Parts: sequence; C-alpha cells; structure tokens
Amino acid sequence: MPDIPTPSTPLTGQCLCGAVRITIEQPRSGIDVCHCRMCQRWGGGPFFSLHSVKQAAMAIEGAEHVTAYRSSEWAERAFCKTCGSNLYYHFIPGEHFSFMAGLFELPEDWGIDEQIFVDEQPAWAQLAADSPRKTGAEVIEEAKTAGYDFD
Ligand SMILES: [Zn+2]
Ligand SMILES: [Zn+2]
Repeated sequence: MPDIPTPSTPLTGQCLCGAVRITIEQPRSGIDVCHCRMCQRWGGGPFFSLHSVKQAAMAIEGAEHVTAYRSSEWAERAFCKTCGSNLYYHFIPGEHFSFMAGLFELPEDWGIDEQIFVDEQPAWAQLAADSPRKTGAEVIEEAKTAGYDFD
C-alpha cells in the first residue's frame, strides 16, 4: 500500500535508556495493532505500531545499540541491546518498518486505525476501539495481491 505523504511535523521517539533515538518524517496519523502469536511472544501482548514507513522517511540515532533478530524469512524485529526495548518490525520484501507506538510522543487524538490477525487475538487483549479488523488469512491475501510471495 502506498504511503500518502501529508504535511506534518516529524515524530521523535526513544528507547527506555535513550541510547536509540528515532525520527519519523511525515508520519501518518493513527495506530495499527497486530494480534498475531509472534507479536504476542515478542512484546508480551498486542503490537501497537505506527503506520509503516520506508527507510528514507526515518532516521535512527545510536544505531550501534540496535540488534535485529531475524524472526522469519521475510521479517526482522529489532531491540535496544542496552535496555531491551523493542523498536521495530522490519518487513524485508517491502523494505518498510513498523515502529513501536509507545516509543514516541504521539498526538493525544490518535486512535487505532486497524487491527490485524484478529483470529489470533486472545480474550484478554480485546480492545475497546472500534476499528477495521482483518484475519491473518486476509492480511496474507492482501500482501499476495500487492505482489509479495510467502511460499
Ligand atoms: Zn535502550
Ligand atoms: Zn504480528
């Protein structure tokens, strides 16, 4: 899906210890939530992320503190090796990055735009937000339609 550029101020964020600082240029408002089993195991619950961005739209200061773990054939997940804060999910075929929402100072009116992998969402992670919901199969189908290959 193409990112639609909108004029907005950059977002800045950091990990718990501050060794890693992130700037996102022209962020799109709103939060995506992934309920897949891997995200639960990775972050202890649903993965609340910014809309994904391309490398050109982001800057990481303190990149030497970042460790990326190759979590599957098509993705890696990164964390600060000093404090352990999770930082981002990197979808390799699309070259885009989904950053942990909680790292950033976000406008108060941002809400949840979309929840995915809802078929793997446990009862204890039900969210009050009324937002579009997609199953894992629907997400994978969408990615295949966009030209990505998972086989
Ligand atoms: Zn840190
Ligand atoms: Zn997930």
